[in-house]
Amino acid sequence: MRTIELEPSPSIPLHSLEALQQDSLLPICKACGTQYSKTFNLTTNCKICEDPRQFIPSTGQEWTNLYDLGQDRKHVLLQDEIDERISFISVEPGFAINQTPILIETFNGSYIWDCSALISLPLIGFLSKLKRPLKGIAISHPHFFATSLTWARALRVPLYLCEDDKEWYQRLNDIEAQDHIIWWKGEKELDKGVKLIQCGGHFPGSSILYWDRLSEPPPPKDDLPSKPTPVSGIIFTADTIMVQPTQKGFSFIWSVPNLIPLRPNSILAIQDRLKYLSFHEATSSWPNRWIREDAKMALEQSVITYLAAEGWRLDQEKLVKLIT
Ligand SMILES: [Zn+2]
Ligand SMILES: [Zn+2]
Repeated sequence: MRTIELEPSPSIPLHSLEALQQDSLLPICKACGTQYSKTFNLTTNCKICEDPRQFIPSTGQEWTNLYDLGQDRKHVLLQDEIDERISFISVEPGFAINQTPILIETFNGSYIWDCSALISLPLIGFLSKLKRPLKGIAISHPHFFATSLTWARALRVPLYLCEDDKEWYQRLNDIEAQDHIIWWKGEKELDKGVKLIQCGGHFPGSSILYWDRLSEPPPPKDDLPSKPTPVSGIIFTADTIMVQPTQKGFSFIWSVPNLIPLRPNSILAIQDRLKYLSFHEATSSWPNRWIREDAKMALEQSVITYLAAEGWRLDQEKLVKLIT
């Protein structure tokens, strides 16, 4: 990964400044990074952390806001050195569950996959000058909703959220007519070769982003890249199917911090949703969680391994209990 320090930008659009100012004091849960409406009762706990997939820290519920977060944190871009069109938007020092959105610069436009709590002026300045202009933000599941309404307003792009996780969106009451929120289900094509696929499992609306890099046009002859550009399909999986630290297989988790696995039928449903896709690479939400080759085969093998660990095997697509 190549580290890119973001410089202060001399020209931030007025609507971006207004969006940041309007939301700067809204409460943000320190444990998970979810931003709440100003009407939220701060004597109650964060709904995302109270859910058994997360946890209220032993030190108790604590809140912060965008203003305070911006005092001692900054964004750093980590650009993939093999495919420079993919960069992780990292926050230093880390915050909440270290959500790390991914910037994907496709030929037809750029997209941000997932969200984190901090949004900074240097990041807005950088994103507003992309060679392929930003066309949208899409989010995999509620643990990455973070401050996404503020991001969408500041960057003036549509926000794609899966309809089946609507109940978890904590700023529903703040959505205004001019906000461009796209509630989708099943599959949603963002652009040629770029689409969202709902897989369920971790959350009912848990989804992945698929990029068919083969559908990108070849580079112009007078601007050839200095090294080959990857052309295989890639899936961005977040928590829906987590790339293991080995970077050779996947895990299927209902609760990551509480170590609760996904049910066998949910694992099979995810596999079924992805079976017609052509992909060779996969990356989760954090840098250095990347399967560079044979990712589809790794997925098939991981399903078998995971089901076996839970006491099942597949026989002609039916689950059979292993005798132990
Ligand atoms: Zn929380
Ligand atoms: Zn999650």
